[in-house]
Amino acid sequence: MKVFKFGGASVKNAAAIQNVAAIVKQFEASQSLIVVSAIGKTTNALERVVLLARNQQNFETVIQEIQDYHQQIIQELDINDPDFNNTINAKFVELKSLATQTDEYDLVYDQVVSQGEVLSSLILNQYLVQQGLRSAWIDARHYIQTDNTWRGGKVDWEQSRKKIQGLKKNLQSQLLVTQGFIGATSDNKTTTLGREGSDYSAAIFAACLSAESVTIWKDVPGVMSADPKRLPNAVVFDELPYQEAAEMTYYGASVIHPKTIKPLANAGIPLLVKNFDNPALPGTRIHECKIDKLPPLVVFKENQCLISCKVTDYSFVNEQQMSNIFTTLSQHDVHINVMQNSAISFSICVDYREPKTLRLIEALSKNFEVYYNTGLTLITIKNYDATTFNEYRQKPGILLEQSSRSTLQVLLRL
Ligand code: ASP
Ligand code: MG
Repeated sequence: MKVFKFGGASVKNAAAIQNVAAIVKQFEASQSLIVVSAIGKTTNALERVVLLARNQQNFETVIQEIQDYHQQIIQELDINDPDFNNTINAKFVELKSLATQTDEYDLVYDQVVSQGEVLSSLILNQYLVQQGLRSAWIDARHYIQTDNTWRGGKVDWEQSRKKIQGLKKNLQSQLLVTQGFIGATSDNKTTTLGREGSDYSAAIFAACLSAESVTIWKDVPGVMSADPKRLPNAVVFDELPYQEAAEMTYYGASVIHPKTIKPLANAGIPLLVKNFDNPALPGTRIHECKIDKLPPLVVFKENQCLISCKVTDYSFVNEQQMSNIFTTLSQHDVHINVMQNSAISFSICVDYREPKTLRLIEALSKNFEVYYNTGLTLITIKNYDATTFNEYRQKPGILLEQSSRSTLQVLLRL
């Protein structure tokens, strides 16, 4: 059996959902598990709902917009099964009461924001059934168990594996449609796996089912050597080793969620990245392979913050002080993208997120003189050649630069 994952853009309107059904038919995915994200930008809209509700502002209008958007798609798909429509309407009633829960913010966030995937999967499954496919809807929360780290649930692999393996039988004779991005705690509270986490869900299901492959359907022809919107001469990779793909995601390539590769690599399951607008294109196969010379790969990571911690008493930065910096970073759950030290200062580049980053800066200021710059872009060039090395090192506005034998990183104000 195979796992197919369709992201928000691939189900953004009725025509897109029809295209998904065509792909499912064309690829004879009759015994597959389909993992789907929320429709279009629904997750962002649901995030607004949580925030407005918490601030006692008008969130109902946003819910109404989400409902209208979904209703229009349902209508255009000619779905008029009364039971189904009742189910959908009930979900919107439920959404309103979830939004006004008074529990801690991140818990409420997960209960509300997860509903986008519940809706999209219900609609997709209903449409597939209407198209004559043998398909059933399953609730991912009954299968992916996590701890209660809201907005970033950590998967309990043992429990999830047990539950997911129970699906093998059903998959012998039918398609299953489920949600990406969501799971549940042992006491049945919904959790989310982190933004853009549906790829990860697909990998979890695939690993636990020992799937033949996972295919992520995207709006690009495959994994590319750069974002084609930034660098038009970017090329598509035919194949990539797991290691290379994992490193790309680490540096910020957004084509695949960073947590996706590990479970697949451990289970030896190939990951295919294919284009939903042109399914005949071969796409990229990520698997165990050796490639002699990969072309340079360029990854842009925006919204970076450079923080420099200076020692104030004319001593040098020592290991004790570095250890203090690392402890503070870990306490604030902040991940370092690049770091560099000099005699009297230690600099780190992190994703800029308010208020988290400002809190970190405040904490560091207790022991150091702290300087910071925001609005920066980190460019990573993996497998650079002489041309790209020189090109990127000469960019104007570089604040920090670092290179190893294979990778060059420059942090600059674009
Ligand atoms: N819908 C979620 C998000 O937009 C998960 C995903 O798309 O993978 O973050
Ligand atoms: Mg999405």
